[in-house]
Amino acid sequence: MTIGILGGGQLGYMLALAGYPLGMHFRFLDPSPEAPVGRIAHRVTAEFRDEQALEKFAHGLEVVTYEFENVPVEAAQFLNKRVPVYPPTEALEEAQNRLREKQLFRRLGIATTEFVEMAPGGNLDVAVKRIGLPAVLKTCRMGYDGKGQWLLRKQEDVEKARQELPNVPLILEKFVPFTREVSVLGVRSRNGEIAFYPVVENHHRGGILRLSLAPAPGLTLPVQQVAEEAARKVLEALEYAGVLCIEFFEIDGKLLANEMAPRVHNSGHWTIEGSVTSQFENHLRAIMGMPLGSCAAVGYSAMVNLIGEVPERAEVLTIPNAHLHFYGKEPRPGRKLGHVTVRAEKLDKLQERLRALPKFFQRPEFCLEQAAESTLAKRA
Ligand code: AMP
Repeated sequence: MTIGILGGGQLGYMLALAGYPLGMHFRFLDPSPEAPVGRIAHRVTAEFRDEQALEKFAHGLEVVTYEFENVPVEAAQFLNKRVPVYPPTEALEEAQNRLREKQLFRRLGIATTEFVEMAPGGNLDVAVKRIGLPAVLKTCRMGYDGKGQWLLRKQEDVEKARQELPNVPLILEKFVPFTREVSVLGVRSRNGEIAFYPVVENHHRGGILRLSLAPAPGLTLPVQQVAEEAARKVLEALEYAGVLCIEFFEIDGKLLANEMAPRVHNSGHWTIEGSVTSQFENHLRAIMGMPLGSCAAVGYSAMVNLIGEVPERAEVLTIPNAHLHFYGKEPRPGRKLGHVTVRAEKLDKLQERLRALPKFFQRPEFCLEQAAESTLAKRA
């Protein structure tokens, strides 16, 4: 049983690691000869639009999935004529365009951030007048990890953004003074079975996820239910198979959907050690139409992303229940090189273990202090 994966980054790497015990084999397609999966699986190095390479890649595969949501939709459609592609290509199309994504949320009755669309070369002043300041301007396409975004706090920022604006479709969103950011992972199998992981709390710096706390400290049943309902609507509307992530802003106990990712997600890395079945294994089970595994959390977990540099292995491994994951990528500023998951049976124990992490993690970019102040301390 060989599964094809478009994209050969860390998500693909962890998918393969989860699939080997189930007797699965993997073939990856990625334009970069540096893609880390090359160390553990067969990798085809070719452009996503190279139809000859796609044809060869598809040969003999059971199913194709993707670990990168900016895979060209045409490539997924091309493959789908030869071998089933999951999540469905419609999910890829919706998620690649912020406007379509937000319209989908609205159509399905999922509360989302207030926004207006701006055509290429559209009038920024009109949009600002409608939404008000502060606001966040985003390109509809190819924006992730805070790229392609302008935070407009005052008129000066509007003037500055005007100079930098690319001539592409944009949306202007109301700035949400959120209490915290959370996300939910839902998974739907090809046989229709659906399951949800507990909602997690996420901390970002510079638009990049730095820390996830799972389950989200102080998580209430109503918040979990609203998040699950939102994910269920999308999973069912798109006749989805695989893992889906929806990220929300939580404000006064209410959730506003920000965006979705039709794939395994960074805010679900904790599930490898922190839940009964990891998001990677459940994604594979789902796209193969197999029964899903339990998504229940095992105690409390904190997942810390390693961006641009990594700590000494031994220093992390001395912490009880700390798990280190290196993705085998060359260090570069802003690059996700690995993550650490720390687990404990109780929140106060988790806090203790996080405090015991080496000095490397005590810097503000890891958000540990912020998390401890804002949540762990109050809710332990
Ligand atoms: P995104 O690429 O949409 O996930 O945005 C990256 C990060 O920017 C989010 O995780 C938030 O921290 C922040 N952000 C994006 N949109 C908004 C908004 N409308 N209001 C407040 N913060 C936002």
